[in-house]
Amino acid sequence: MDSSDIAFDAKHIWHPYTSMSQPIPAYPIKAAQGAELIMADGKKLVDGMSSWWAAIHGYNHPKLNLATANQLEKMSHVMFGGITHPPAVNLCKQLVAITPEPLECVFLADSGSVAVEVALKMALQYWQARGEKRQRILTLRHGYHGDTFGAMAVCDPDNSMHGLYKGYLPPHIFIDAPKCRFNDEWDKSDLLPLEQQLAENNHEIAAIILEPIVQGAGGMRFYHPQYLKGVRDLCNQYNLLLIADEIATGFGRTGKLFACHHADIAPDIMCLGKALTGGYMTLSATITTRHVAETISNGEAGCFMHGPTFMANPLACAVADASITLLLNSPWQQTIANIEQQLISELMPLANYASVQDVRVLGAIGVIEMKQPVDTAALQKVFVANGVWIRPFGKLIYVMPPYIITPEQLSKITQTIKKVLS
Ligand SMILES: *Cc1c(COP(=O)(O)O)cnc(C)c1O
Repeated sequence: MDSSDIAFDAKHIWHPYTSMSQPIPAYPIKAAQGAELIMADGKKLVDGMSSWWAAIHGYNHPKLNLATANQLEKMSHVMFGGITHPPAVNLCKQLVAITPEPLECVFLADSGSVAVEVALKMALQYWQARGEKRQRILTLRHGYHGDTFGAMAVCDPDNSMHGLYKGYLPPHIFIDAPKCRFNDEWDKSDLLPLEQQLAENNHEIAAIILEPIVQGAGGMRFYHPQYLKGVRDLCNQYNLLLIADEIATGFGRTGKLFACHHADIAPDIMCLGKALTGGYMTLSATITTRHVAETISNGEAGCFMHGPTFMANPLACAVADASITLLLNSPWQQTIANIEQQLISELMPLANYASVQDVRVLGAIGVIEMKQPVDTAALQKVFVANGVWIRPFGKLIYVMPPYIITPEQLSKITQTIKKVLS
């Protein structure tokens, strides 16, 4: 890539959440290997983002490459209507085996946002099939569930990227997010806003959707497992469906295979994406119980009304199956505990800086919350100059490295953050 390619990009290609007239710089990356991104000029950047929670095994992994190449020689895609194939069956066998017990009916789709759309539609169709008009979803403030319309409607209405669309989106019910942090002593008054809403409005509500334990793009907040347990109990009491959006938290990121495991609960519907394919390709899964699937299927429509063109794409399924096998065959608990310990010992001292509001770590996630919003472009320039790849947003400088990162590489990231703060 030369400078004219970069100029073309700036002029003609949209990037996520960036102005088309005043774009923040996009850095040219020509390859990626292990825990490093390789720039067009050969400079290497240690990756602190896992390409937004996805590349848990790092880049250019021989086993994932092989799984993809082997599948490519057989078929890269075939429609899923009236057809099935080994990559889909193998992947879904694993998903049914590793997700909490009653989840066993898998819907494969294209991306995280679509997995959320599918989950919301399942909840609506479930109640329709039961002859009840329940069309509202209850969710937490500071939540993030994706960028499509149904998903936007359950993102934080005021603090998210989607405040602009207020008025166009169905009015769902938002309650205050829990205040009790992951390691705090549990305070059951955190559940009061939910208890009140349910006492008043439970007959209108189809489902509760939340990100278990870690609220990601809506603020990188880690809340108490007892809260999640309490939500499950209330869903049982009022007979509501619980949708766990594990798109960011799934596959070990928080120290458990799924964040629901911290509270030992099972949702009625679970959404997976991001790390599902080890970051190789876009794919998502929405998994539900036999009860929900049968209720929907016995309803007036006789089926679930969704069917993407690229449903269960064989290439994506093959690499997802290989990625899960790779994860389960690795000492992932120990690996993530080691990353957590290192993040704690190297990031926690930064809480003393005057510009820092809070530092928190859970699993392989480290968050530095600043007192003021940061200048993303300026910070990124410094990070790149120092050989690390981190993309801050709002007041947050956060890292979630590939699990294969070495202690030296991780130190390079934390030392660079320290340097930037001082
Ligand atoms: C990223 C994310 C999504 C959306 O996934 P996409 O693949 O970007 O559509 C939904 N929910 C959560 C919790 C996420 O982190």
